[in-house]
Amino acid sequence: MLLTITNTHPPATDLGYLLHKKPGRAQTFTLSFGQAHVFYTEADEAACTVALLLDIDPVGLVRNRRGPSGEGRTLEQYVNDRPFVASSFLSVAIAGVFGSALAGRSRGRPDLAETPLPLRAKLSVLPCRGGEEFLRRLFEPLGYEVAAERHPLDEEFPEWGESPYYTVGLSGHVRLRDLLTHLYVLVPVLDREKHYWVGDDEVEKLLRHGTGWLAAHPEREEITKRYLKYRRSLAREALARLTGEESPDPDTVEEIHNIEEETVEKPLSLNEQRLNAVVAALKSSNAKRVLDLGCGEGKLLRALLADKTFEEIVGLDVSHRSLERASERLRLDRLPSRLRERIKLIQGSLAYRDQRLAGYDAAAVVEVVEHLDLPRLATFERVLFESARPGTVVLTTPNVEYNARFENLPAGKFRHKDHRFEWTRREFQAWAESVAERFGYSVRFLPVGAEDPSLGAPTQMGVFTLEGRGAANTSKCEPAPADARP
Ligand code: SAH
Repeated sequence: MLLTITNTHPPATDLGYLLHKKPGRAQTFTLSFGQAHVFYTEADEAACTVALLLDIDPVGLVRNRRGPSGEGRTLEQYVNDRPFVASSFLSVAIAGVFGSALAGRSRGRPDLAETPLPLRAKLSVLPCRGGEEFLRRLFEPLGYEVAAERHPLDEEFPEWGESPYYTVGLSGHVRLRDLLTHLYVLVPVLDREKHYWVGDDEVEKLLRHGTGWLAAHPEREEITKRYLKYRRSLAREALARLTGEESPDPDTVEEIHNIEEETVEKPLSLNEQRLNAVVAALKSSNAKRVLDLGCGEGKLLRALLADKTFEEIVGLDVSHRSLERASERLRLDRLPSRLRERIKLIQGSLAYRDQRLAGYDAAAVVEVVEHLDLPRLATFERVLFESARPGTVVLTTPNVEYNARFENLPAGKFRHKDHRFEWTRREFQAWAESVAERFGYSVRFLPVGAEDPSLGAPTQMGVFTLEGRGAANTSKCEPAPADARP
């Protein structure tokens, strides 16, 4: 699988600055599914072409269970088109190898990263389900001139007809980051297969990479549906949020009210149910000054900000990128000062004691523990329950027993690649009770999401209360069972 990108804006070799890859040097990167080679096929003042060659290991794919499952057709696991065509593997390679350029960062030439350039991309083989017409409907509205050459299934047997495979050229006057982003999202959309499980975080990924173009794209529905592999609830969530993004009144609080209203009308996503349950638990503990530890992109922060009872809100995360996104999502730079004063984002790690975290009424730790290496867990326990020592801790984590209900999740796999572990209800409760006992808290457990009679709810939540500081109104904290909602 070969992707080439050509810049013809002199000095064309500036492409090297944008990609953080020197034209004179060939480089090889090892990815989980094979190798990515980056080299230049031409590099002078007038034209500079970089090539990204993917060498996918089909046997490795079977071993890592990333390739086609080949149910009943075992050979398909080994003999398939994946090593030869542009697919979601290309997207992963773009993110891994050209990550800075994809994000629009250029150390040497930040101005250039923001400048539209005459760029041409060529994909040696792109499976286009939906044909050339769909290919054009995807790229032409984004300003690309599209050239497509269809390949027969087998040149020696013309009677077998055409294949879904095309050699595709795209030329446009765009920023490099736009070209990479469009390829990142639209190649898997055309191919309509993904080598990994499509979970909730795919919505975030799509919205993030779709910023600035997807909401206005005439094919946004089809793109969203295919990107999320026809998982209808996710596609609905993404589309609702996409159109929300376009709304003329960007006031954060208003937006939250809209979302609340929508949720009365449609079944809540697990994500939303989790947020509601956490906010309800925080409110019933009477907390006014709250921490969101491992706040990620700030979904909970946004909900907390919309509720006046939370007077001081601090979001902490180890990832600078997540904090940047949280800041954008909350539109911190545009918030009216009365809202802005209530919230603070800080960078820090739960693996170290941090004086800044001491003295708060409550802390939320939502879907974070499972990202910590097990040996680090003991440190995290002390950092949170001994040193920061908030009056209440609301902590959620996946219930691994429920994974059997997720159709697309292969047996034995976790819900997210970065999860170091996922606990059964017994494991979580044993851990939480031992932590509570050691640090002088009491703990109770609440299911989040529709409960399966034998597997439990998809998310499990523990509410820890510092002994001697009982919450004023604990009964309010029970979220309504999910299936009782409209
Ligand atoms: N609470 C958010 C994000 C969950 S994802 C939500 O529910 O949407 C887990 C988050 O934990 C990521 O943003 C990750 O950057 C953060 N994280 C992982 N290890 C961490 C650590 N040691 N300290 C602080 N944050 C950490």
